[in-house]
Amino acid sequence: MIPTDLPAMDFRSRFDRLRAELDGAGCDALLVTRLVNIRYLTGFTGSAALLLVKPDRALFVSDGRYRDQSAEQIGAAGVDVDIEILNLGQKEVVVAGAEGVARLGLEADHVTWAQERKYASDWFPDTELVATEAVVDRLRLVKDAGEVARIEAACSTADAALAEVQHRLVEGPTEEEFGLELDTAIRRLGAEGNSFETIVASGPNAAKPHAEPGPRRIQEGDLVVLDFGAVVDGYCSDMTRTFAIGEISVTQQKMLDVVGASQAAGVEAVAAGVEAKAVDLASREIIDEAGWGDAFLHSTGHGVGLEIHENPRVAQTSEDTLRSDYIVTVEPGVYLPEHGGVRIEDTVVVTDEGCRVLTRAPKSNDPLAA
Ligand code: ZN
Ligand code: ZN
Repeated sequence: MIPTDLPAMDFRSRFDRLRAELDGAGCDALLVTRLVNIRYLTGFTGSAALLLVKPDRALFVSDGRYRDQSAEQIGAAGVDVDIEILNLGQKEVVVAGAEGVARLGLEADHVTWAQERKYASDWFPDTELVATEAVVDRLRLVKDAGEVARIEAACSTADAALAEVQHRLVEGPTEEEFGLELDTAIRRLGAEGNSFETIVASGPNAAKPHAEPGPRRIQEGDLVVLDFGAVVDGYCSDMTRTFAIGEISVTQQKMLDVVGASQAAGVEAVAAGVEAKAVDLASREIIDEAGWGDAFLHSTGHGVGLEIHENPRVAQTSEDTLRSDYIVTVEPGVYLPEHGGVRIEDTVVVTDEGCRVLTRAPKSNDPLAA
């Protein structure tokens, strides 16, 4: 299912692009402490590391648990990084590595107040510390071909898993039982995990956008919201489909129709150069016109990559403009406690002309439709 020949990711250009941003961020070097950003830059997937990026060299520090793994992964990424593995004396090595740096950037969205105080008083008392915001996160907005291929493989895996198990929805499983079947199919098809805890929300639970699967049995007359994703080589997919079980009410059918039209309008609005808030508006207008604006309880979408929720935001207050090779979701919903809920979500890659939809599971609301 998952191609064995996924194209390589371009790690080296990530360092070049980061170094080009340092001066604009007001620093001469950046101490990267957010693990997902260290992974993005070096390929390292472990749970403890620091990465000091200077204009002419980079220093990676981790502990003995990651002696072999860091050498393997950073070697495979092909980036020019000095690796230091130490259980004691990490601070001294990083401080020595930062010698001569006048302005050292920290990742302000990640470093805690306590850590900042420790860096300022104990690690770098004579260095100007600069609070930088989302410097590496912004590099991650544009996906390279290797990243797109991984997210596409994750989306295809989720599509295939749903196709395998969706017919079971009419057999009266509990939400928890169905969620386990879907998750198992995702793993069996080769994904390394779920991009977040699978949502199986039936009946009244479907009116809660982020309901957790529970012991409720799925039954006739339910709308069932399934929101789930697969992970391939660290990259996430995200998709929501809503199924109708047996006969549903006129209002429930209208909810399906309105959200379907809203989601299609949002996808239609996506293109390079378009403001993200315009995509939100395209989806939101259709729900507003149906009189359910107050029942659309969240924003229209978000970026997807190494994290399930990343930049850009696709929201009314977003100031982001979409660019080619951004990957975003479009996922409007309507939630009415008396009737349940409907959400439909695709993950799409932005192109100059529009977008390419990566989640291809059919949007039929009949669990028995092929
Ligand atoms: Zn989702
Ligand atoms: Zn989503």
